Amino acid sequence: MIAASPSSAQTAAPKPDFPLVDYHVHLNSMTLEQVVAASKERGVTYGILEHAGTKENDYPIVLSSDKDLQAWIAKLDGAGVYKGVQAEWIDWMPCFSKEVFAQLDYVLTDSMTVRDANGKRVKAFSRDYDPGNDAEAFMKMYVAWNEEILEREPLDIFSHPTWLPGKFNRDYDKLWTPERMRAVIDALVRTGTAVEIDCGMRLPKMAFLQMAKEQGVKFSFGSNSQGRVINDLAFCVEAARTLGLTAKDMFTPAPRYRKPIVRRKLPG
Ligand SMILES: [Zn+2]
Repeated sequence: MIAASPSSAQTAAPKPDFPLVDYHVHLNSMTLEQVVAASKERGVTYGILEHAGTKENDYPIVLSSDKDLQAWIAKLDGAGVYKGVQAEWIDWMPCFSKEVFAQLDYVLTDSMTVRDANGKRVKAFSRDYDPGNDAEAFMKMYVAWNEEILEREPLDIFSHPTWLPGKFNRDYDKLWTPERMRAVIDALVRTGTAVEIDCGMRLPKMAFLQMAKEQGVKFSFGSNSQGRVINDLAFCVEAARTLGLTAKDMFTPAPRYRKPIVRRKLPG
């Protein structure tokens, strides 16, 4: 007799009671046709992102006007994918009219670009970034920055939650105290923002997810695919099973008149 292998046991695991959607796919070198083919093959719907914001943001493509957005929307239209943008920094809103922006299915962002000592935007995920040696001081700044992002930007989804720079990541469990997690989750609740379960970076950890679920936060799945292959959703599905997530816990794009950019009253 041959015992069932771990892989066949995995295949037999029950699927969630909701449709699988991966809201974090960048095309980069991949074509839209390749994503559509993968969608049919895997039974996963994909949400495709382009960066959006002012030209000050350093990315190969940054959508910075209604015209840019309309071209992006037209490119994805009718392909059976969700149309998204990944907003950069906290000053992108004036680049677009609400009317055109609300034609997107969703906008997400993360907290991985932070202010340096001079208040300038700096990519905390870049090799050159030095968060200093004082982890407690960093966390004080960083939690407040997470809250500020959620308060100031009309977001659908908060991406890569609880990410930390490499230097501090080994102390993740110690640095993400219940109080700090609570502060971010309270901001998600106040603003009606969903939180991503990021299977690319395997974030956030279960303590955060459990607390978020207790507070009624909605969840989205994101593979953080950067355009060579589309990562699978195994980590997200497993987390959803552990948490007992059902359809009512999952993010779905709001109708146009209820998009965050329409319904949120933002601080001036
Ligand atoms: Zn991304």
